[in-house]
Amino acid sequence: MTHNPDRAFRTRAVHAGHGLDPATGAHATPIYATSTFGYGSAERGARLFAGEEQGYFYSRLTNPTVRAFEQKVASLEGLPDAVAFASGMGAVSALCLTLLKPGDEVIFVAPLYGGTTGFLHEVAAKFGVTIHEAPDEAGVEALTGPHTRLIWVETPTNPALGIVDLARIARAARECGALSVADNTFSTPALTRPAEHGIDLVMHSATKYLGGHGDAIGGVVAGPADLLAELRGVGLRHVGASLGPFEAYLFLRGMKTLPLRMHAHCEGAATLAQALDGHPALSALHYPGLRTHPGHAVAARQMSGFGGLLSIDLGSQGAASAFLNHLTLFTQAVSLGDVESLSCHPGSTTHHLLGREALRRQGVTPGLVRLSVGIEDPRDLVDDVLGALDHVRAGQLQPG
Ligand SMILES: *Cc1c(COP(=O)(O)O)cnc(C)c1O
Repeated sequence: MTHNPDRAFRTRAVHAGHGLDPATGAHATPIYATSTFGYGSAERGARLFAGEEQGYFYSRLTNPTVRAFEQKVASLEGLPDAVAFASGMGAVSALCLTLLKPGDEVIFVAPLYGGTTGFLHEVAAKFGVTIHEAPDEAGVEALTGPHTRLIWVETPTNPALGIVDLARIARAARECGALSVADNTFSTPALTRPAEHGIDLVMHSATKYLGGHGDAIGGVVAGPADLLAELRGVGLRHVGASLGPFEAYLFLRGMKTLPLRMHAHCEGAATLAQALDGHPALSALHYPGLRTHPGHAVAARQMSGFGGLLSIDLGSQGAASAFLNHLTLFTQAVSLGDVESLSCHPGSTTHHLLGREALRRQGVTPGLVRLSVGIEDPRDLVDDVLGALDHVRAGQLQPG
């Protein structure tokens, strides 16, 4: 079944992109572990290369297992097509190298994922592209001009879970003739479909929630057919960060349960946020589901759940370390979106390269801890977090 917008989201999560294998009738999508595909005849080979016939001929460009993953993502995002990449950063770099030329300008709402910011400032800028950082939507509107080519946003943002108004960004892009790009990794199409708000291109680190089991690295971009044909023909063919069929198989398998997992992630994070709201050991709790969160109204409008991430501020790096070391269900590791809960201290790990000023602007305080809430029973997660906070407080109360 390819994209059928009449079927409900949960049905498409299970079925979109694949049916019985045409060669064998296999019910599960086979892993087509092959680099190349025979043409069958010299004439067909020529037709394939001339683009006169669609078909598989080399797995850097397309492979049946990878194609099924692409079609499932396109269907869930409600967009005509998708192209898969070997990682989220493979998707970011292919998009930029395909769409940008010297003299173009890119505006992004800071903070973006560190790798994306790094690519824009350290790679795209070397090729004569000007990069502008805006603090918010109004900042974007003030920076647009005739040379703006891309406006790039992420929502919620990492790690302080800021919310960006997608419809407002899409409008700003349309008005200046630019393309809007939303990194939908944190939200997933189960909670937000940026195209419904007018966004042109939607990208993911599939490594996170789309895969959902922490066992594969990959990326994907969904969008209109003409732009994606260009992305496949330039960004995939010439840059070459192609997804392997085994990873595509894992993502296909993971995405069948995406709506169920996202429901459980959201439930866990909401339960935890409720238990932590007003806790005396915390100086801040960032979670878009709280009425006091600055992005709450926009999040309530453009998300159908508030996501599985929350971050808390314990006031100092010492308290944050003590807290992390006393958690038993949250593995200390980067990444997010796994069925298992994960925890990290952004200031000393994922964000340690940022200067003091950038850290402050991005809300990365010394005491900040980010929790990626898994699908375990929320009561156990609450017990674990409250228990670790008790240890921190007991440590602080000890004399000397
Ligand atoms: C992880 C991540 C990326 C990069 O993806 P990789 O698969 O690690 O290359 C990009 N954007 C966001 C929001 C991410 O969380």
